[in-house]
Amino acid sequence: MRLLAFVIVWLAPVLAFPRLGLHEGYTRLVFDLEARTQYQLAQSPDTLTLRFSGIGAGAADVDVSSPQVASYQVVVVGNGATVFVRLKPNVEVKTVVLDDGNRRRLVVDVLTAAPKPSPPAQARPLPPKPRPQPKVVVLDPGHGGLDPGAVGFVVEKEVTLDLALRLRQLLQKEGIEVILTRSSDTHLSPDKATDLGLRAEMANSKRNLFVSIHVNSAPNAVQGIETYYFGSTLDQSLLAQVIRENGGGELGQRLTREAQSVGERLVRDLIAQSNLKFSRQLAHYVQGALLQATGAADRGVRQAPFYVIRNARIPAILVEVGFANHPVEGRRLQTSEYRQTLALAMARAILRFLNNGE
Ligand SMILES: [Zn+2]
Repeated sequence: MRLLAFVIVWLAPVLAFPRLGLHEGYTRLVFDLEARTQYQLAQSPDTLTLRFSGIGAGAADVDVSSPQVASYQVVVVGNGATVFVRLKPNVEVKTVVLDDGNRRRLVVDVLTAAPKPSPPAQARPLPPKPRPQPKVVVLDPGHGGLDPGAVGFVVEKEVTLDLALRLRQLLQKEGIEVILTRSSDTHLSPDKATDLGLRAEMANSKRNLFVSIHVNSAPNAVQGIETYYFGSTLDQSLLAQVIRENGGGELGQRLTREAQSVGERLVRDLIAQSNLKFSRQLAHYVQGALLQATGAADRGVRQAPFYVIRNARIPAILVEVGFANHPVEGRRLQTSEYRQTLALAMARAILRFLNNGE
């Protein structure tokens, strides 16, 4: 019995999560659950999202390319995992939990939907008037709580929160729904990797875009604004900055490597690739609007492996609105007038993006 227990423990970590089966007419995903595991399911037309807590799972990004499922991605967050299953059009999802006392598993079948018989022409009801869905924007004020971020003439976590609150108000006035990753001086987790993972998880497919707001710092008197979208290659001149924004120190180095490895997998993911194009577009709108409004130095639209935007399935950018330790720019960032100017410019750019460039 001892031996058997040993074998089970030894085998458990190597089981794939999920296990994948391709069948005639359906694709099956089997999630082996632990006794403590809890999960939630959410479905949009193109994505099935499964959130598990209390599970040991490894990050994955798998191109399935079956008639029903394009791909799935496992994002590990703390002691849980979120699985995004990208669905092909015209599918139905059926789930069942099998529990034979020894083991419990969630079986998700994605089936090709049977074509609906079209009603006779005369009886066909008028299509319902489309009701515009409110657009949803996620704003991520960088750092917070235990983590002050850059400290100079201003403290980064205070400026980022103030900007996000101002921006929220401006967007809400335009009928946009705004979700903040934090709305007070707090961290999401004392563990920085979990903190960044939770923020990143909010960039899910039910939202329209994600903006992470930061303040820069540099050892010399550098100033200006730069806007990033995700990229796995890391310009060596950005190394210190990216590591700092990814949590700093050894942790920041580890999360930077993780973000880079996600990026290498994304190259094969067509949805992620097209999403990157939208992220770049959003970055250009935001950078352009900020420069026009402030006259600040243009440090460009750039790509870097920032952990918080590594897995975004919606357009996602990270904005560095200026340098906390620059004697001119740092002092400008202290004033509410300048912060309002920054918020107005970002709001204008976000609205332009949501209105397809108009
Ligand atoms: Zn920062």
